[in-house]
Amino acid sequence: MKKITLLLAWLPLVLFTACRSGRTITFLHINDVYEIAPLDHGKAGGMARVAHINQELRRKNPESTYFVHAGDFLSPSVIGTLRHEGDRIRGRQMVEVMNSAGVEYVTFGNHEFDYDEEAPTVLSKRIEESRFRWIIANMQLRQQDKTVPFSKDGAAFPTSVILDNGQVRVGMFALCLPVQKDFVEVTDPFEAARREYEDLKNRCDVVVALTHLEMADDRRLAEQFPGLTLIMGGHDHDHIRERIGPVTIAKADANAKTVYIHRLRVNPRRKSARVKSRLKTINELVPEEPRTAAVVAKWQQIAAESFRELGFAPDEVVYTTPVPWDGREATVRTEHSVLTSTIASSMYEAFPGSDLALFNGGSVRVDDVLQEDISQYDIVRILPFGGGISQVTMTGDLLQKVLEAGRLSRGKGGFLHHHNARYDPPTGTWQVADAPLDLQGTYKVVLPDFLMTGKEFGMSFLLPTHPGVKAVVTPAREDPRSDIRKVFISHLKK
Ligand SMILES: [Zn+2]
Repeated sequence: MKKITLLLAWLPLVLFTACRSGRTITFLHINDVYEIAPLDHGKAGGMARVAHINQELRRKNPESTYFVHAGDFLSPSVIGTLRHEGDRIRGRQMVEVMNSAGVEYVTFGNHEFDYDEEAPTVLSKRIEESRFRWIIANMQLRQQDKTVPFSKDGAAFPTSVILDNGQVRVGMFALCLPVQKDFVEVTDPFEAARREYEDLKNRCDVVVALTHLEMADDRRLAEQFPGLTLIMGGHDHDHIRERIGPVTIAKADANAKTVYIHRLRVNPRRKSARVKSRLKTINELVPEEPRTAAVVAKWQQIAAESFRELGFAPDEVVYTTPVPWDGREATVRTEHSVLTSTIASSMYEAFPGSDLALFNGGSVRVDDVLQEDISQYDIVRILPFGGGISQVTMTGDLLQKVLEAGRLSRGKGGFLHHHNARYDPPTGTWQVADAPLDLQGTYKVVLPDFLMTGKEFGMSFLLPTHPGVKAVVTPAREDPRSDIRKVFISHLKK
């Protein structure tokens, strides 16, 4: 009897606590994850570890934990470029891993639209394979003469969702930055935000946003909508957290090197929430969730076989770099770095007697900074497309046109890196081997075969049939120079 009385005495407190805990919403937030397995020789990241964190959070707050991904996961990755079951993998590995890890809500990142040739088909396959929900408020699919919402199983993607645990309602809408793709219709993210916010604010206790925007736009969003509680962002690859007035903006590190855990204590009466955001490092101390680890291992096995067929030893360390190699997209498309000049000089060395070497920044797709030990796998990550290199003898006139096109493509994939060529801004002229470029002369130029297809932006003129092309030396298939990565690896090993 006494025991029952004691229990009854506790009951209000238990109920009170249960009720209060129902008002705590937990978000596990990741963004920009391209690799399913840990990086830095197993030290950093790994989706199986993130899956473990998800399970732990769910154990503590089962009714009110949500796992979100703020975009960029289908591309780029090494595994994605390999073939399996007769098809390029192209993000299939990541969708399978995310399904297993328990990701629930995602929005588009710009890299979801990377697969150019048959982009809509590849993307729709990945969408159908996914078991998570896609949200997007400012993008639609463009078909011949109309635009339609992106859809999964015939159902249009929602522009927002309401997370309702029976005690509090959290509205979440999603935005992505503009992408230049024929099949995507992008509308102004701020107009979309206005529409979604107005719709959600009266129906929910608090409103949050899942975004894949430039930081400046996330800030603008916070300024325009001070009623927002939290912006869970992506696109930036280094973790960042800011408060703009009452709004928290947070982004985790790329490749799940960290995750954000946001706890929102919602006050339904005041329609507000206290936000506590914790950046958690994902390293060897975090155990792996076994089911997801098995899916990751399966894809690594597929990748390893594929690598061996291509003649790579993925685990072999080929070089230890004394300075970090900056392979981030924003860097390789706008400026020269130790990484890009090392690639260019490896190309130059592969054809003795050449005058210069050049390549397009868009061929570097790692979108990450690499440190210290560089393995063959890292090299393939840096240059996932591979492709051969050739020595092209061309007129000075044509060379000047190529170099200028590269210079004017700053910010784009066609931005050119060189070895033995230099632009002199004060005079607006090009120097080759420290002498002014001679328009009447001829030059032996080492460049990727891709550039000779005319498919690079702003370089459609660069074809073997151009009158300025005097000779092309293309190595045979069994020559290591038929793959730029092998050229780079053998240069680093020296
Ligand atoms: Zn992005």
